[in-house]
Amino acid sequence: MGAGCRSVGDERWFFGSAEEWTALAERLKQTPCPHCKRVGALIWHGFLNGFDESSPRQKTVRARRIFCSNRNARPGCGRTFSVWIASKIRRLGLTAGALWRFLQGAVADGILAAARALDCRLSDRAWQRIWQRFKLAQSKIRTALLGRCPPPESLPRPPTNPKRQAAAHVLAHLQAAFPDVNCPIADFQLTMRAFFM
Ligand SMILES: [Zn+2]
Repeated sequence: MGAGCRSVGDERWFFGSAEEWTALAERLKQTPCPHCKRVGALIWHGFLNGFDESSPRQKTVRARRIFCSNRNARPGCGRTFSVWIASKIRRLGLTAGALWRFLQGAVADGILAAARALDCRLSDRAWQRIWQRFKLAQSKIRTALLGRCPPPESLPRPPTNPKRQAAAHVLAHLQAAFPDVNCPIADFQLTMRAFFM
């Protein structure tokens, strides 16, 4: 399911590198608004900041807001939307890379073992919630991945706990869809124009 099928309220843009960011910034004035499709009204409108394990004491930029300006006789619709850094996860104090390592570890060795291996200052309950959030997102992730490639027929390594079979399949599918990248979750967000979870 591509961005075109989503309601405009869901429109998300992601970028994966400083070069992509610069390119987007340079062509903002020529870029149509995702809501009203008008060109020439988009302006920068602040940042969304948050903590994650890459910077536990200082907030880092997670996304930038863009405003389709209707002020000063501009032709815009007055709505805003976000451009997200693909390696950030909304409402979560983990980068996409750490989330990927955690999910792989949780499938292989269990949630608490995976959490301990990561050395992030989150409580056991927080890790449980992250796992639950991933479980809730699984069917949406699977549907999105099916538009890109079929799921792999077998698992590289079956999970020790059979309850995690479905999760293991989703992660294997994700890896098959984005092979040879550092973090398939960041590439998922970038390519699908959708939050991983
Ligand atoms: Zn607009």
